[in-house]
Amino acid sequence: MHHAERRPSHYRLRCTVCGQRRPDDGLALGCPEPHAPGLLRTEYQATAFTPDPAFQGVYRYHSWLPVRRTLPDTGRTAVYRSRRLAASLGLTELWIAFNGYWPERGGELTTGSFKELEAATVLGRIPQDAGTLVVTSAGNTATAFAELCARHRVPVVIVVPAGALPRLRTRTPGGELVQVVAVEDADYADAIALGDALAQQPGFTPEGGTRNVGRRDGLATVLLAAVEAMGTAPDHYVQAIGSGAGALAVHEAALRLRCRPGHDTDPLPRLLLAQNACYAPVHQAWQTGERPWLTDGEQDQRAAAERAFAPELTNRRPPYDLSGGLHEVLTESAGHVRIADAAAARAAMDAFRELEGIDIEPAAGIALAALRDAVRDGEVAADARVLLNITGGGRARLALEHELTGHQPTMLVPRETAHRPGEIAELAARLADTRELHPAVV
Ligand SMILES: [Zn+2]
Repeated sequence: MHHAERRPSHYRLRCTVCGQRRPDDGLALGCPEPHAPGLLRTEYQATAFTPDPAFQGVYRYHSWLPVRRTLPDTGRTAVYRSRRLAASLGLTELWIAFNGYWPERGGELTTGSFKELEAATVLGRIPQDAGTLVVTSAGNTATAFAELCARHRVPVVIVVPAGALPRLRTRTPGGELVQVVAVEDADYADAIALGDALAQQPGFTPEGGTRNVGRRDGLATVLLAAVEAMGTAPDHYVQAIGSGAGALAVHEAALRLRCRPGHDTDPLPRLLLAQNACYAPVHQAWQTGERPWLTDGEQDQRAAAERAFAPELTNRRPPYDLSGGLHEVLTESAGHVRIADAAAARAAMDAFRELEGIDIEPAAGIALAALRDAVRDGEVAADARVLLNITGGGRARLALEHELTGHQPTMLVPRETAHRPGEIAELAARLADTRELHPAVV
């Protein structure tokens, strides 16, 4: 398709620091004004919440998504009211937002996590001539982008620590448009350094992580799907977090829902966020006012990622203090942060499988364990309306029912290269050459 792309006009970007509004070029990750760091947020023309059943997957909510196109065969969150798990927790109204593979419940996210919601939205947001997208991840985000970029033939470079390669498996084989750069002996921070440098090269464009409004508004569809199923917003929203992008997204969606005519006095869902007991920077910051990322070294994070029950929750530099960040949304929502250890999370995963009938990922086990504790301690009332985000699940079931393909790295890069800016241009050129050997983009 080579026709001129329509610049989307159904929304604008607003800077949370200076308040300036701008049209979106599909790539912006921050405000150009020289001020303190802050997130951009979307502002949609539509003030009514109008799911559009003519569209599949997350695009059902396209009037509140920063997208200029939609991709076929995308999934969305399956939301249902729990009976057995609710009873075991002592809750009268527990709703499950299930993100993953569970055909009987409408769970059709074939990479088994809610990162697919963000990938679908980010890919719908970028202009087609944006160049090669660079995504850095050690886990579910890499898998989500590998799957959707392969399925929809979008050029992407996925930068991962080499140790994460075995987990990078998708239903759709990679193909020549999905290039994987594996950094040897590296942790997530090394991969980020390489990804950031590569994305600055001509012909490449950064995905941007939490700063990308596409990512956050894609994750916000968890709450939109829930409100559609529940008929109203929950009193409590429960999620395990690393960067906390999902929690920011849900809070932003709650603010948007409150702007609907007649809803301006609706209470905001209280965020109940959860982290690994062994490494919980957001919990520590919220409870003590300390900022562990200012004092802890990379080594602490590296060690934590090795021993944590849910390693993807060990983000060392969460978007906490910046405008629109975690401190702000926890304060606005009267939220709280809890921790759960491996034993509690494992018990929660077992309970979910037994009572609800499907496997869930360790991070979701952390969230469920935290909810159980919060109910026990009276932080969540027995008759409260609770939404539990199962951020990943059904992966064991998916592996039984479908063949998954691994991704061979296009390039194995020594760890030192990630920290030598002088070598990045050559690496970028080699990636471009590799692609030309397989002239699939015409
Ligand atoms: Zn600004």
